[in-house]
This record gives sequence, structure tokens and C-alpha cells, in this order.
Amino acid sequence: MQKVGILGGGQLGRMLLQAAANYVVETYVLENDDECPAAHLCNHFVKGDIKDFDSVYHFGKGLDAITIEIESVNVEALEKLESEGVRVYPKPSAINTIKNKISQKQYYKDHEIPTSEYIITNSLAELNNALHMLPAVHKIGEGGYDGKGVQIIRSEKDVEKAFDAPAVLEKAVNIKMEIAVIVAVNDKDETALYPPTEMLFDPILNLLDYQVCPAEIPQKVLWKAEAIALTVARNFKSAGLFAVELFVDTNDEVLVNETAPRVHNSGHHTIEAHFSSQYDMLWRIILGYPLGNTAAILPSAIVNLLGAEGYTGNAFYEGLEDVLRIDNAFVHLYGKKQTKPGRKMGHVTVMSKDRTDLMHKANKIKHILKVISK
Ligand code: ADP
Repeated sequence: MQKVGILGGGQLGRMLLQAAANYVVETYVLENDDECPAAHLCNHFVKGDIKDFDSVYHFGKGLDAITIEIESVNVEALEKLESEGVRVYPKPSAINTIKNKISQKQYYKDHEIPTSEYIITNSLAELNNALHMLPAVHKIGEGGYDGKGVQIIRSEKDVEKAFDAPAVLEKAVNIKMEIAVIVAVNDKDETALYPPTEMLFDPILNLLDYQVCPAEIPQKVLWKAEAIALTVARNFKSAGLFAVELFVDTNDEVLVNETAPRVHNSGHHTIEAHFSSQYDMLWRIILGYPLGNTAAILPSAIVNLLGAEGYTGNAFYEGLEDVLRIDNAFVHLYGKKQTKPGRKMGHVTVMSKDRTDLMHKANKIKHILKVISK
């Protein structure tokens, strides 16, 4: 039986472990928090820091393969494990490129992949000399997550509030739509693409509100998005799963925003709505099986459950029964004990063959299901 380790025990790791139940595999998880969402679903939980060389190296030694659920891991340890014969998905070289937004941008440039115009600013002083780029988006090189470490710089005034660290300064794109394409690559270099998912953001919290799949885009935009996503994934020369986030601008040009080398939130809906989920797909890749069918069974939407404004404390899910009564709605609660405003507490997948009905149901779910405290 193959022994496979996952670095990180968050919700993505948990969903990956749920899909492992279909295969013969012994699973290991490395994570600092022994109450993390994945801790009780794996065969072996190891408490330790995914950023620490020794922890990652000792965890990986003796495993057949290792994968990640987040890219902020110790890449040097993964490189050593790889050199000693442990299969790593994706390759440490790909994680290394993606981990830092500066090297990630450079990668797009080196491979002539369309992305927004940018410069690298190593400090606030350099940012002050880059006013010709405004309006722009200032993204911290390493350590950003879920919009943290991303600042919109419209004027000189915003520069005063900017962080002082090596960063990418990108010209602001006139975004018509944000989409994501997940690409699967196996060790035989075979590839499969999921249909694009459209991402809709809450303008106040700047967190993802809904996602809808397939995205409503013209055929030409679809072809561009697929070609770009495939080019991004293939040039890493690595098997794995790559979620490529793209902007469609007001001229219908497609630009890469960023890539995640792992299972991704933009693929949550694939559990119920696609024949082979992104999690199933990653197991196929790791275990050396043929790739799965990425086609949608039905169009789907995801509603993110964020902690409601004004509530901090023990989480209570108001309206849960009403949502579970809706046809083809599937609730995923992450089991976090404490809620606070804007915290990601779960998501709901809903499916319908009719887009109007789908959006109606998604909207209804958003309004009846609230994460409050009691
Ligand atoms: P994170 O890695 O934290 O998710 P992103 O790089 O995806 O950060 O940026 C977060 C959001 O900021 C994007 O989803 C998009 O809405 C906006 N954004 C990022 N880059 C640009 C850009 N060049 N032009 C306009 N908006 C952008």
C-alpha cells in the first residue's frame, strides 16, 4: 500500500482525505494544530511545522509520495526528499516558483504568458518611485493569503499606507470577470482541464462571495483561457494539479492573475457537480492512474459561508435545515468552533441545469444561511 503525505491539514486537506477513501492508500498529515480539519480523517497525524526543514524532512522520509494543500511549505526539505526518491506533487521547483509572487510573475514573463504589466519594488522607497504605474495593485512577494498582502494603490496617498517589503506592483486591470481553470497533469504528461469557474467577490469584505461553473464566457474567451492555463501548467514540467486564476478584461483579453499548485477553493463544486472531482483527480495523479473525466454533471454554484457581521464566539448555523431542504444543495461545514466576521466557516454547493434557477437558489442560500454565535 502506498504511503502518501499531505503538508497542511486545513479544509482542502480534509476534502482530499475524503476522496482518498475510494483508493487503497495510507495517508499521513503534517500540521501544527492537532485539532485542524484534516486531523481525524487521516491514518497518521503528525504534529509539526510545514515551514520547518526538519519537520518536513522527517515527515516525508519513508513515504512513497507527498503533496501539499498550501504552498507556504519548506521547499528545501521537499527537494531533499525528492532527491532521495520520494515523489512530490507538484515538483518542489514548481512550488518554489509559485510561492513567491515575484518569481511567479517572472515565470509568466519568461514563458510569454499574458499577465498584467508589472515591476518589482523591493521597498517602500522604490514604490514611491513607481507612481507612473498607478492605478496599480501592490502584492507582497511572500506570505500573502486570501487578499491579505494585496493593496490597491490609486494615488500617492495610498502609497503612504503601503507595506514596506519586496513586492510586485501590477498595473490595475480593467476586470470584466475573474475565472479559474484547474489543470491536471500526470506523470505520463497527459493533461485534463476543468471547465472555467467564474468568481464573484463581495465588494466590501473583498472575499469570494459566489462561484459559478461553467463561467458564462464567449467561445473565443474560453479557448484563450484554456490555452493559457495549459501553457502555465505544462511549463512547470511537473505532474500535479494547477489552479490558474485568470482575469478577462473589458476587451475580452485573458491575463493570468496567479496560480495555485494544488487543490483549490475554485474547485470545491467538483465534488458533487463533476464526474471526477479535483480531489479524486489528484489521487489519480499521485497513484499513477489514468486521469478522470472533468466534465460537469450539472452547472453548479458555490456559496461561501462567512461569519456574519457582529457575531464572535461559538458558531451556530442559522437556517441550516431550510438550506438542506433545497434540491441539490450540499452543505460543507468546516467544523471551526469559533466564528468571527468574515471568517470562512464553510460553503454550500448547489446545482441546477437552468442558470436562472441556479442563481436564484444560490442567492436564497446566501440569505437564509447565516453563521452567528450563541
Ligand atoms: P490572493 O493571492 O491574496 O488571493 P490576488 O493576487 O488573487 O490575491 O488578488 C486578490 C484580488 O485583487 C483579485 O481577485 C482581484 O480582484 C484583485 N486584483 C489582483 N490583481 C489585480 C490587478 N492587476 N488589477 C486589478 N485587480 C487586481
